[in-house]
Amino acid sequence: MNLATLSALTETEAREMLERIRWPNGPVCAHCGCFENIRTIKSEARPGLYRCGDCKMQFTVRVNTVLHDSHIPYRLWLMAFSIMASAKKGISALQLQRQLGIGSYKCAWHLAHRIRHAMKQEPLRGLLTGEVEVDETYVGGKPRKFAGKVGKLTKEEKKHVGRGTKKVPVLALVERDGRIRAHVVPNVTAKTLKTSIRELVDPSAAIMTDEFNAYKGIGNEFEGGHHTVNHSRGEYKRGKASTNQVEAFFALLKRGINGSFHSVSRKHLNKYCDEFAFRWSLRKDSDADRTVRAIVRGDGKRLTYKSPIAAAQA
Ligand SMILES: [Zn+2]
Repeated sequence: MNLATLSALTETEAREMLERIRWPNGPVCAHCGCFENIRTIKSEARPGLYRCGDCKMQFTVRVNTVLHDSHIPYRLWLMAFSIMASAKKGISALQLQRQLGIGSYKCAWHLAHRIRHAMKQEPLRGLLTGEVEVDETYVGGKPRKFAGKVGKLTKEEKKHVGRGTKKVPVLALVERDGRIRAHVVPNVTAKTLKTSIRELVDPSAAIMTDEFNAYKGIGNEFEGGHHTVNHSRGEYKRGKASTNQVEAFFALLKRGINGSFHSVSRKHLNKYCDEFAFRWSLRKDSDADRTVRAIVRGDGKRLTYKSPIAAAQA
């Protein structure tokens, strides 16, 4: 499954592909979960319509997923999933609109945000273990005044950049060669950072950080202790201590935010953390596998925005 093959699909083929991904063992009722008593209904207006014999409700493969209530063709959904699951540095709604030939920016924005919602970080099954690298960074954007503006800032508006720009702190915890958690934090005080570490990391783990003061003393709470590297002395690895993996993640996130998106408000930043964490966690998978995983994760995650633009400005 790559973009070229997806783009050649008919609408029926695209729907059937989504059905196979979502229902590998045949259709499952989107309302009651029943799968034994499902009947196909011939409908010109709603191809791929099913009726559940148990709860008597009708559904298509879109119902109760991030595709819920969307009028975007299945083929474009598949292509958008593929693009976003593969784009290392992310892709802006504007780029997505151009690549897919979607009529309106609003529509492309909607599509991107729904796919991002599918990629949302799931609750951890078991805390992070082993060697866990922890680091924090600041991600910046346009001044709040222009946070909802679509496209580039004018020369006049650019004068305000840097003044009143709120950089937002993000904390990431990376299980070496394993899972990741990344989220916006209100500040980078010892209390905030340590609380997050305690919530997400198993007490048996070893914590790896740089020599930022806020992490001092955290070693007392973890059996593996606390190992630090001193970046200000140009040190990037001391014994097993290093924060190279978490820094690699931040480098991608920042390149994405600054390069692809230009502006991300504090309110939306967590969604971008989800998107980048999703790709990071599955970085060893093929693009096709990552695409399928994103689609599957969209199950049960219906999302409706009244107005994406209004939401961006809120
Ligand atoms: Zn049912």
